[in-house]
Amino acid sequence: MQYTIVPLKTIGILGGMSTEATREYYQLINAGVQALKGEHNGAELIIYSVNFQNIERLIRTRQWEAAGDYLAQKAKQLEAGGAEYLFLATNTLHIVRDAITSAISIPFIDIFEVAARAVQQQGLRKVGLLGTYPVMTDVFYQQAYQAHNISVLTPSESEKREIDRIIFDEMCHHQFLPASKQYFIDTVGRLRDQGAEGVILGCTEIKMLVNQADFSDFPVFDTTTLHCEKAVRLCVGIDDS
Ligand code: GLU
Repeated sequence: MQYTIVPLKTIGILGGMSTEATREYYQLINAGVQALKGEHNGAELIIYSVNFQNIERLIRTRQWEAAGDYLAQKAKQLEAGGAEYLFLATNTLHIVRDAITSAISIPFIDIFEVAARAVQQQGLRKVGLLGTYPVMTDVFYQQAYQAHNISVLTPSESEKREIDRIIFDEMCHHQFLPASKQYFIDTVGRLRDQGAEGVILGCTEIKMLVNQADFSDFPVFDTTTLHCEKAVRLCVGIDDS
């Protein structure tokens, strides 16, 4: 009997920001498709993994226009290669999403929209936001959530700097240290004391340091997992939106 190719959509991941996070995307999306479809099924995926040195420098020097030009070129290559959806596997670089979306015609799956929907589904309006220094500081990210009627609380200045250091100097170098895990847990506790009803892990590496299991009665919204769950639904064609 003639074999029929399984009809899946092709997911494009613009990643390498960092490689640690993109490995997680690869693993989660494939596992999600396998869980839904069974047998030997896995995702149809194209990954463009950029050199993180360029990204780290562009973020640290806030050269968003150059970052947008760089990533828009890569997004175009993903589309030309057959990607049907574009997933940018970093929260921070969503600040150049307009440069990317204007360069492609396939749908761009916004990580903030996906996270905001999960927060809304639990009926929450005020949540903590952890991420790189720009994510916790620049008004762009607060407005991205405000657009969905969600207000965000961020840590103190010294906590922001320490969290940013842990992300770039440890997590992006594949280090997940017990002291840093405790620092994140304590920081989330302080955000909770200030009125946060949950916390968004707004950086695609954080889930490997802390996750819902570390916070028994406090909702955790992990942007990596939520973004990947969306990719799984789109890949198999059961997305609700
Ligand atoms: N992956 C992180 C994020 O989600 C930080 C590293 C980067 O800036 O790409 O923002």
